[in-house]
Amino acid sequence: MLNIISIIFGALVGSFLNVCIFRLPNEESIIWPGSHCPHCKKPIKFYDNIPVVSYFLLKGRCRYCKGSISLQYPLVEGITALSSLFLIIKFGPSLSYLFYFAFVAALIVITVIDLYHQIIPDVISLPGIGVGLLASLLIPQITFSNSLIGVLLGGGSLFIVATFYQWLFKREGMGGGDIKLLAMIGAFLGWKAVLLTILLSSLIGSVTGILMMVAKGKDFKYAIPFGPFLSLGAVISLFYGEEIVRWYLYLNR
Ligand SMILES: [Zn+2]
Repeated sequence: MLNIISIIFGALVGSFLNVCIFRLPNEESIIWPGSHCPHCKKPIKFYDNIPVVSYFLLKGRCRYCKGSISLQYPLVEGITALSSLFLIIKFGPSLSYLFYFAFVAALIVITVIDLYHQIIPDVISLPGIGVGLLASLLIPQITFSNSLIGVLLGGGSLFIVATFYQWLFKREGMGGGDIKLLAMIGAFLGWKAVLLTILLSSLIGSVTGILMMVAKGKDFKYAIPFGPFLSLGAVISLFYGEEIVRWYLYLNR
């Protein structure tokens, strides 16, 4: 029962995240006006706004003008719903669930906005640092000092990641946005997870970069934003960080 509630709650939050994804980069209000079709501007009725379900009932088209609705809507709603489910299984109905769900929701918004616009909005990452520090005072998973060191290390590791990225892609890829994102990740997950996130995201980023170079030819110069890799690395650290560190220490005994 709890699992079903967490999925429905996650899907509803995902629906709100879609609004943030479209409006934050344009500095529009995320509260008003309500959802409307991007083609014909008609307001979307509540029964056409059911997360994931409506997209399939309407076969991906607006009820009025038949303009196509982006696949991003059901994808973001579905991923947010699944995140909510996995987090309730990991943390149970608790304050920890709420804080980490807010964290993952922020990462989802950052990932999609970074993919579209190559920016990471400060309005998410900067308050995120504050919320992460606050969470460390209230939840048992992380201490305040660990969270604070995480912020400093995340912010300070600019040099390492930027150098690696520049070496790999032969271009400057790290922006200030990535640094603030890494500081936010440090605030929620602590300093060990910052190191693990850098390691994982560099690894996944390199493999992706190499695959794309192989697929598109050697002069491939498409700008790959780093935010999605950092976000993915952070989510893996959140769910499997302890196991990975324990496995690593076991290997090095
Ligand atoms: Zn329409």
